[in-house]
Amino acid sequence: MPAPDFLPALTGSFAQPAAENPTVDMIEAAYQHHGLHFRYINCEVSSASLADAVRGARAMGWAGFNCSLPHKVAVIDLLDGLGESAAIMGAVNCAVRRDGQYIGENTDGKGFLESLKSVVDPAGKSIVMFGAGGAARAIGVETALAGARAITVVNRSAERGQALVDLLNDMTDAQASFVQWEGDYDVSTGSDVVVNATSIGLFPDVDARIPVNLDTLTPGMVVADVIPNPPRTRLIRDAERRGCTVLDGLGMLVNQGVISIKYWTGADVEPSAMRDKLESIFGG
Ligand code: NDP
Repeated sequence: MPAPDFLPALTGSFAQPAAENPTVDMIEAAYQHHGLHFRYINCEVSSASLADAVRGARAMGWAGFNCSLPHKVAVIDLLDGLGESAAIMGAVNCAVRRDGQYIGENTDGKGFLESLKSVVDPAGKSIVMFGAGGAARAIGVETALAGARAITVVNRSAERGQALVDLLNDMTDAQASFVQWEGDYDVSTGSDVVVNATSIGLFPDVDARIPVNLDTLTPGMVVADVIPNPPRTRLIRDAERRGCTVLDGLGMLVNQGVISIKYWTGADVEPSAMRDKLESIFGG
Protein backbone atom coordinates (compact mmCIF):
# COMPACT_ATOMS: atom_id res chain seq x y z
CA MET A 1 0.00 0.00 0.00
CA PRO A 2 1.52 3.42 -0.91
CA ALA A 3 2.37 5.75 1.96
CA PRO A 4 -0.24 8.45 2.62
CA ASP A 5 0.54 11.74 0.88
CA PHE A 6 1.14 13.60 4.13
CA LEU A 7 4.24 11.52 4.89
CA PRO A 8 7.44 12.92 3.38
CA ALA A 9 9.67 10.48 1.47
CA LEU A 10 12.71 9.64 3.57
CA THR A 11 16.39 9.90 2.75
CA GLY A 12 19.35 10.22 5.08
CA SER A 13 22.79 9.25 6.19
CA PHE A 14 24.00 6.08 7.91
CA ALA A 15 27.21 6.89 9.77
CA GLN A 16 29.20 5.89 12.80
CA PRO A 17 29.51 8.02 14.77
CA ALA A 18 26.74 10.26 13.44
CA ALA A 19 28.91 13.36 13.82
CA GLU A 20 27.68 16.84 13.03
CA ASN A 21 26.95 16.52 9.33
CA PRO A 22 26.71 19.63 7.13
CA THR A 23 25.24 17.44 4.37
CA VAL A 24 22.01 17.32 6.40
CA ASP A 25 21.67 21.12 6.33
CA MET A 26 22.72 21.24 2.68
CA ILE A 27 20.20 18.64 1.46
CA GLU A 28 17.39 19.95 3.66
CA ALA A 29 18.06 23.47 2.31
CA ALA A 30 17.52 22.18 -1.24
CA TYR A 31 14.36 20.25 -0.28
CA GLN A 32 12.93 23.38 1.31
CA HIS A 33 14.04 25.71 -1.50
CA HIS A 34 12.25 23.53 -4.07
CA GLY A 35 9.30 22.49 -1.88
CA LEU A 36 10.26 18.82 -2.26
CA HIS A 37 8.25 16.64 0.12
CA PHE A 38 11.34 14.82 1.37
CA ARG A 39 13.36 14.69 4.57
CA TYR A 40 17.07 13.91 5.14
CA ILE A 41 17.81 12.28 8.50
CA ASN A 42 21.20 11.74 10.15
CA CYS A 43 21.24 8.21 11.65
CA GLU A 44 23.91 6.69 13.87
CA VAL A 45 24.35 3.12 12.64
CA SER A 46 26.99 0.76 14.04
CA SER A 47 28.68 -1.81 11.80
CA ALA A 48 26.78 -4.57 13.63
CA SER A 49 23.47 -2.83 12.87
CA LEU A 50 24.07 -1.90 9.24
CA ALA A 51 22.08 -4.85 7.83
CA ASP A 52 19.14 -4.02 10.09
CA ALA A 53 19.34 -0.36 9.09
CA VAL A 54 19.18 -1.24 5.38
CA ARG A 55 16.26 -3.61 6.07
CA GLY A 56 14.61 -0.74 7.95
CA ALA A 57 15.08 1.59 5.00
CA ARG A 58 13.52 -1.04 2.73
CA ALA A 59 10.63 -1.55 5.13
CA MET A 60 9.94 2.19 5.33
CA GLY A 61 10.36 2.72 1.60
CA TRP A 62 13.26 5.17 1.88
CA ALA A 63 14.09 6.78 -1.45
CA GLY A 64 17.76 6.23 -0.65
CA PHE A 65 20.55 6.99 1.76
CA ASN A 66 24.18 8.03 2.00
CA CYS A 67 26.64 5.98 3.95
CA SER A 68 30.05 7.03 5.13
CA LEU A 69 33.01 5.17 6.59
CA PRO A 70 33.09 2.45 7.83
CA HIS A 71 29.99 1.40 5.85
CA LYS A 72 31.02 2.25 2.27
CA VAL A 73 32.27 -1.27 1.49
CA ALA A 74 30.18 -3.39 3.87
CA VAL A 75 26.92 -1.97 2.50
CA ILE A 76 27.60 -3.47 -0.95
CA ASP A 77 26.52 -6.98 0.11
CA LEU A 78 23.25 -5.56 1.43
CA LEU A 79 22.25 -3.87 -1.84
CA ASP A 80 20.68 -5.29 -5.02
CA GLY A 81 23.21 -3.93 -7.54
CA LEU A 82 25.89 -1.34 -8.24
CA GLY A 83 26.40 1.52 -10.67
CA GLU A 84 29.42 1.28 -12.99
CA SER A 85 31.86 3.49 -11.12
CA ALA A 86 30.85 2.18 -7.67
CA ALA A 87 31.50 -1.36 -8.92
CA ILE A 88 35.01 -0.38 -10.08
CA MET A 89 35.79 1.52 -6.87
CA GLY A 90 34.32 -1.15 -4.63
CA ALA A 91 32.77 1.58 -2.50
CA VAL A 92 29.25 3.00 -2.20
CA ASN A 93 28.34 6.29 -0.57
CA CYS A 94 24.83 6.65 -1.98
CA ALA A 95 22.11 4.02 -2.23
CA VAL A 96 19.24 4.75 -4.59
CA ARG A 97 15.87 2.96 -4.78
CA ARG A 98 15.07 2.09 -8.39
CA ASP A 99 12.02 -0.07 -9.16
CA GLY A 100 12.00 -1.29 -5.56
CA GLN A 101 15.67 -2.28 -5.62
CA TYR A 102 18.51 -0.50 -3.85
CA ILE A 103 21.39 0.28 -6.19
CA GLY A 104 24.74 1.48 -4.85
CA GLU A 105 26.33 4.54 -6.44
CA ASN A 106 29.34 6.63 -5.56
CA THR A 107 28.79 10.37 -5.80
CA ASP A 108 32.24 11.44 -4.49
CA GLY A 109 33.88 11.28 -7.90
CA LYS A 110 30.74 12.33 -9.79
CA GLY A 111 30.52 15.52 -7.71
CA PHE A 112 34.16 16.29 -8.52
CA LEU A 113 33.65 15.53 -12.21
CA GLU A 114 30.70 17.92 -12.38
CA SER A 115 32.86 20.70 -10.90
CA LEU A 116 35.70 19.91 -13.29
CA LYS A 117 33.43 19.89 -16.32
CA SER A 118 32.34 23.43 -15.48
CA VAL A 119 35.85 24.59 -16.44
CA VAL A 120 37.39 21.84 -18.61
CA ASP A 121 36.38 18.60 -20.32
CA PRO A 122 38.65 15.90 -18.82
CA ALA A 123 38.58 13.84 -22.03
CA GLY A 124 42.14 13.51 -23.35
CA LYS A 125 43.60 15.47 -20.45
CA SER A 126 46.57 14.73 -18.22
CA ILE A 127 45.82 14.76 -14.48
CA VAL A 128 48.16 14.90 -11.50
CA MET A 129 46.48 13.74 -8.32
CA PHE A 130 47.88 13.95 -4.79
CA GLY A 131 46.52 11.17 -2.57
CA ALA A 132 45.33 7.60 -3.00
CA GLY A 133 42.57 7.26 -0.37
CA GLY A 134 38.81 7.05 -0.84
CA ALA A 135 38.40 10.51 -2.40
CA ALA A 136 41.34 9.95 -4.78
CA ARG A 137 40.03 6.53 -5.83
CA ALA A 138 36.62 8.03 -6.62
CA ILE A 139 38.11 10.97 -8.55
CA GLY A 140 40.57 8.74 -10.40
CA VAL A 141 37.91 6.27 -11.53
CA GLU A 142 35.38 8.94 -12.52
CA THR A 143 37.84 11.10 -14.48
CA ALA A 144 39.21 7.97 -16.17
CA LEU A 145 35.68 6.91 -17.18
CA ALA A 146 35.17 10.45 -18.51
CA GLY A 147 38.14 9.91 -20.86
CA ALA A 148 41.17 11.33 -19.01
CA ARG A 149 44.25 10.25 -20.96
CA ALA A 150 46.84 10.07 -18.19
CA ILE A 151 46.57 10.06 -14.40
CA THR A 152 49.68 10.45 -12.24
CA VAL A 153 49.00 9.37 -8.65
CA VAL A 154 51.40 11.06 -6.22
CA ASN A 155 51.14 9.53 -2.76
CA ARG A 156 53.12 9.21 0.44
CA SER A 157 52.42 5.52 0.93
CA ALA A 158 53.60 3.45 -2.04
CA GLU A 159 51.26 0.57 -1.28
CA ARG A 160 48.07 2.64 -1.51
CA GLY A 161 49.36 4.67 -4.45
CA GLN A 162 50.33 1.61 -6.49
CA ALA A 163 47.02 -0.14 -5.66
CA LEU A 164 45.08 2.80 -7.10
CA VAL A 165 47.30 2.93 -10.19
CA ASP A 166 46.80 -0.83 -10.75
CA LEU A 167 43.03 -0.42 -10.40
CA LEU A 168 42.93 2.42 -12.94
CA ASN A 169 45.14 0.57 -15.43
CA ASP A 170 43.18 -2.69 -15.05
CA MET A 171 39.67 -1.26 -15.11
CA THR A 172 39.79 1.87 -17.27
CA ASP A 173 41.42 3.11 -20.49
CA ALA A 174 43.44 5.82 -18.73
CA GLN A 175 47.22 5.43 -18.44
CA ALA A 176 47.98 5.64 -14.74
CA SER A 177 51.40 5.88 -13.11
CA PHE A 178 52.62 6.15 -9.55
CA VAL A 179 55.10 8.63 -8.10
CA GLN A 180 56.29 8.30 -4.53
CA TRP A 181 55.78 11.66 -2.80
CA GLU A 182 59.12 12.83 -1.44
CA GLY A 183 59.78 16.53 -0.92
CA ASP A 184 58.18 19.19 -3.10
CA TYR A 185 56.63 17.66 -6.23
CA ASP A 186 57.36 19.33 -9.57
CA VAL A 187 54.23 19.34 -11.74
CA SER A 188 55.29 18.60 -15.32
CA THR A 189 54.54 21.21 -17.98
CA GLY A 190 52.12 19.02 -19.94
CA SER A 191 49.73 18.60 -17.00
CA ASP A 192 46.22 20.00 -17.44
CA VAL A 193 44.64 19.36 -14.04
CA VAL A 194 46.19 19.17 -10.56
CA VAL A 195 44.06 17.76 -7.74
CA ASN A 196 44.66 17.67 -4.01
CA ALA A 197 42.75 14.55 -2.92
CA THR A 198 44.53 14.25 0.43
CA SER A 199 43.25 15.54 3.76
CA ILE A 200 46.07 18.11 3.97
CA GLY A 201 44.60 21.51 4.77
CA LEU A 202 41.37 20.27 6.36
CA PHE A 203 40.19 22.31 9.38
CA PRO A 204 41.75 22.78 11.91
CA ASP A 205 45.11 22.28 10.10
CA VAL A 206 44.32 25.11 7.72
CA ASP A 207 47.95 26.28 7.36
CA ALA A 208 49.27 22.85 6.39
CA ARG A 209 51.14 23.08 3.10
CA ILE A 210 50.84 20.67 0.19
CA PRO A 211 54.42 19.64 -0.75
CA VAL A 212 54.37 20.96 -4.30
CA ASN A 213 56.74 23.34 -6.10
CA LEU A 214 54.39 26.29 -6.66
CA ASP A 215 56.62 27.62 -9.45
CA THR A 216 55.54 24.61 -11.54
CA LEU A 217 51.86 25.63 -11.38
CA THR A 218 51.16 27.64 -14.53
CA PRO A 219 48.17 29.72 -15.68
CA GLY A 220 46.92 27.11 -18.16
CA MET A 221 46.36 24.57 -15.37
CA VAL A 222 43.21 23.80 -13.40
CA VAL A 223 43.99 23.31 -9.70
CA ALA A 224 41.29 21.61 -7.63
CA ASP A 225 41.10 20.87 -3.92
CA VAL A 226 38.75 18.33 -2.31
CA ILE A 227 38.90 20.06 1.08
CA PRO A 228 35.49 21.61 1.72
CA ASN A 229 36.41 23.24 5.04
CA PRO A 230 37.82 25.82 4.64
CA PRO A 231 36.79 26.31 0.99
CA ARG A 232 39.67 28.69 0.26
CA THR A 233 42.55 26.42 1.19
CA ARG A 234 46.16 27.47 1.10
CA LEU A 235 46.58 25.54 -2.18
CA ILE A 236 43.59 27.31 -3.76
CA ARG A 237 44.95 30.72 -2.75
CA ASP A 238 48.49 29.92 -3.93
CA ALA A 239 47.26 28.53 -7.27
CA GLU A 240 44.98 31.53 -7.80
CA ARG A 241 47.94 33.87 -7.26
CA ARG A 242 49.76 32.01 -10.03
CA GLY A 243 46.89 32.53 -12.43
CA CYS A 244 45.56 28.95 -12.41
CA THR A 245 41.84 28.22 -12.72
CA VAL A 246 40.77 26.95 -9.29
CA LEU A 247 38.00 24.68 -8.03
CA ASP A 248 37.25 24.36 -4.33
CA GLY A 249 35.98 21.33 -2.41
CA LEU A 250 32.69 23.02 -1.62
CA GLY A 251 31.68 22.78 -5.27
CA MET A 252 32.38 19.04 -5.22
CA LEU A 253 30.26 18.62 -2.09
CA VAL A 254 27.39 20.70 -3.48
CA ASN A 255 27.45 18.74 -6.73
CA GLN A 256 27.25 15.50 -4.78
CA GLY A 257 24.10 16.85 -3.20
CA VAL A 258 22.66 17.84 -6.58
CA ILE A 259 23.37 14.35 -7.95
CA SER A 260 22.00 12.55 -4.87
CA ILE A 261 18.78 14.56 -4.93
CA LYS A 262 18.35 13.86 -8.64
CA TYR A 263 18.80 10.14 -7.91
CA TRP A 264 16.34 10.14 -5.00
CA THR A 265 13.66 12.59 -6.14
CA GLY A 266 14.11 12.95 -9.90
CA ALA A 267 14.33 16.73 -9.42
CA ASP A 268 17.06 18.99 -10.80
CA VAL A 269 17.86 21.31 -7.94
CA GLU A 270 19.52 24.69 -7.91
CA PRO A 271 23.05 24.35 -6.44
CA SER A 272 23.11 27.90 -5.05
CA ALA A 273 20.72 27.18 -2.16
CA MET A 274 23.04 24.40 -1.02
CA ARG A 275 26.23 26.39 -1.54
CA ASP A 276 24.78 29.30 0.44
CA LYS A 277 23.95 26.96 3.30
CA LEU A 278 27.45 25.44 3.34
CA GLU A 279 29.12 28.86 3.11
CA SER A 280 27.09 29.93 6.15
CA ILE A 281 28.59 26.92 7.98
CA PHE A 282 32.18 26.88 6.64
CA GLY A 283 32.62 30.46 5.49
CA GLY A 284 32.79 31.41 1.78
P1 NDP B 1 41.68 8.77 3.27
O1 NDP B 1 42.05 8.67 4.69
O2 NDP B 1 41.08 7.59 2.58
O3 NDP B 1 42.99 9.20 2.41
C1 NDP B 1 43.78 10.28 2.81
C2 NDP B 1 44.86 10.53 1.78
O4 NDP B 1 45.60 11.70 2.19
C3 NDP B 1 45.88 9.42 1.63
O5 NDP B 1 46.33 9.35 0.31
C4 NDP B 1 47.03 9.90 2.55
O6 NDP B 1 48.27 9.38 2.18
C5 NDP B 1 46.99 11.37 2.29
N1 NDP B 1 47.55 12.16 3.36
C6 NDP B 1 46.98 12.49 4.55
N2 NDP B 1 47.82 13.25 5.27
C7 NDP B 1 48.95 13.42 4.54
C8 NDP B 1 50.17 14.11 4.74
N3 NDP B 1 50.40 14.81 5.86
N4 NDP B 1 51.11 14.07 3.76
C9 NDP B 1 50.88 13.37 2.62
N5 NDP B 1 49.73 12.69 2.38
C10 NDP B 1 48.79 12.72 3.32
O7 NDP B 1 40.72 10.02 3.18
P2 NDP B 1 39.62 10.35 2.04
O8 NDP B 1 40.24 10.06 0.72
O9 NDP B 1 38.35 9.71 2.38
O10 NDP B 1 39.44 11.91 2.23
C11 NDP B 1 40.47 12.82 1.88
C12 NDP B 1 39.91 14.23 1.98
O11 NDP B 1 38.90 14.39 1.00
C13 NDP B 1 39.25 14.56 3.33
O12 NDP B 1 39.82 15.74 3.82
C14 NDP B 1 37.79 14.78 3.01
O13 NDP B 1 37.26 15.86 3.74
C15 NDP B 1 37.83 15.15 1.54
N6 NDP B 1 36.61 14.78 0.84
C16 NDP B 1 35.90 15.79 0.27
C17 NDP B 1 34.74 15.52 -0.41
C18 NDP B 1 33.98 16.65 -1.02
O14 NDP B 1 32.86 16.42 -1.49
N7 NDP B 1 34.53 17.85 -1.07
C19 NDP B 1 34.22 14.14 -0.54
C20 NDP B 1 35.07 13.14 0.06
C21 NDP B 1 36.22 13.47 0.75
P3 NDP B 1 48.78 7.93 2.67
O15 NDP B 1 48.12 6.92 1.78
O16 NDP B 1 50.25 8.00 2.51
O17 NDP B 1 48.36 7.80 4.12
